Amino acid sequence: MSKEKQKNNLENAINQLKANIKKCSFCGRTPKEVSHLLEGPNNVFICDSCVKISQDIIKQETIQKLGLFNNGELPKPSFIKSELDKYVVGQEYAKTVLSVAVYNHYKRVQGLAPKDDPYKDVELEKSNVLLLGPTGVGKTLLARTLAKILKVPFAIADATTITEAGYVGDDVETVLLHLLRNADYKAESAELGIIYIDEIDKISRKSENRSITRDVSGEGVQQALLKILEGTISGVPPKGGRKHPEQNLIYINTQNILFICGGAFEGLEKIIAQRLRTSTIGFTAQIEEAITEDLDLLKNAEPEDLLKFGFIPEIIGRLPVLAALEELTDEAMKDILVKPKNALIRQYKKLFSLEGIGLDFEDEAISAIVEKAKKRKTGARGLRSIIEEIMLPIMYKIPDLQGVSHCLITAGVVNNSEEPIYTRIKEENQAKIA
Ligand code: ADP
Repeated sequence: MSKEKQKNNLENAINQLKANIKKCSFCGRTPKEVSHLLEGPNNVFICDSCVKISQDIIKQETIQKLGLFNNGELPKPSFIKSELDKYVVGQEYAKTVLSVAVYNHYKRVQGLAPKDDPYKDVELEKSNVLLLGPTGVGKTLLARTLAKILKVPFAIADATTITEAGYVGDDVETVLLHLLRNADYKAESAELGIIYIDEIDKISRKSENRSITRDVSGEGVQQALLKILEGTISGVPPKGGRKHPEQNLIYINTQNILFICGGAFEGLEKIIAQRLRTSTIGFTAQIEEAITEDLDLLKNAEPEDLLKFGFIPEIIGRLPVLAALEELTDEAMKDILVKPKNALIRQYKKLFSLEGIGLDFEDEAISAIVEKAKKRKTGARGLRSIIEEIMLPIMYKIPDLQGVSHCLITAGVVNNSEEPIYTRIKEENQAKIA
């Protein structure tokens, strides 16, 4: 046999051998180097690692296609926090916790692990968030603003209207329907959204606010909620109403939906104080002071307190990120009126400017509004209705007033329904118009 022929035979044999060795057609790894090697037609193979990478690429392309995040790029916690600062006054701790939690959540969803991920066996668990704090301090606002920053669909649900399937009221599908609607009926977009569940404290076993249509223990509702918190595929009738066989259902997987739950948790402070008193570890004068002054005890909340409060352990397990919000100080309430991008006073200023009239509030007027709101004990929630009551008669009159260039709201307007001080065009001195 000629040398040439010998060489050819050898090459053929090597090629034959190579063809018989199965390897991933994408990364070239052999069965020994991967956990799974899937075989397709015509001697094509793909390994588990390349399947995962392709899934991540598809997810990333979907996020981009749907216009979520910053053109598909997930904003960093520092950016999320700085955006929250534009809309939400104070609540520094909760804002930081949420910025990190939301970032980590979507990082997990994106799943862009390095090619040779040393932690590929570590499964990142979903971290839904529990916000604790009194009414009107910004829980809903935080959740809503986060969705806006991330450009993901958002829906609010009230835990007290969620019932176990079969009872009258909203079942969990209705909650998902709201989200789906806000996602223009695109299931893949809804599946990356945020749902805020308000008044979660009211479905605890010990809650007195439970409705009579519910089960006696309150556990059924918690179980129903648990299902969507931990990830389930739910068939949602797009037109709402009861499911019936003829209606087409849109299937939503809740696995990657971020749930932010909130509640005032009245009575939880007592449970926390009791635990802190009886535990010797970490008991300090500072804690004693907090207990006696009833300040910010919610910050010390632990899962065991929530258990005592009447939540089933599975729900607590699904809400691993806790953040307490603070009661708003007078200063914070004043800031809420003037500082955020769409602060109430800014909105009124804009409305007045459309009439060609300047609008100002005296400092005393702002303090008076805050005082009134505090009496209502609904946090910053009372600010809107109070300012609306004040401004309604003025807004009614303004378009008819001739030659007015400026309007000043004084404390007298807020407290005694006095007329504001109007300035006329070309008039140097302010004049009151009766
Ligand atoms: P909660 O969910 O805690 O009961 P919300 O977030 O619904 O309270 O607050 C009600 C309204 O009060 C908001 O829409 C917003 O106008 C105002 N508000 C409350 N807290 C803040 C805050 N920290 N910063 C800015 N505005 C706030």
